[in-house]
Amino acid sequence: MENSKEDLKKRLTDEQYEVTQNKATEKPFDNVYWDHKDKGTYRCVVCNEPLFSSGDKYDSGTGWPSFTKPVRSDSVDKREDNSIIQERTEVVCKKCGAHLGHVFDDGPSTLPSGKPATGQRYCLNSASLCFES
Ligand code: FE
Repeated sequence: MENSKEDLKKRLTDEQYEVTQNKATEKPFDNVYWDHKDKGTYRCVVCNEPLFSSGDKYDSGTGWPSFTKPVRSDSVDKREDNSIIQERTEVVCKKCGAHLGHVFDDGPSTLPSGKPATGQRYCLNSASLCFES
């Protein structure tokens, strides 16, 4: 899969490109996965790497797909983001560097299923993900 800027512009929608390459944030409650409940894997829309699982997804009330952890701790990288006054931690795909969203410490300690969770909230953009059931 080619990942040159030109190729990505052809292959991705404008929104997918802006989110993954320019760290844009999509609109809450108006994106494909915020309320998506099917069982499966969310892959990086750029490089197809499996990143998040439906088993770790929960409704955070934010209008963005939210997870308590990635499929593997080394699936994503975290970077300091000081682009707004509130300090945030950016989450990117470890394999290709695509911007995915941010991670916060206000996640649940258990999921509705009773599964123990991490207390973290990975708040992602649907536009950076591709779901596979
Ligand atoms: Fe990727």
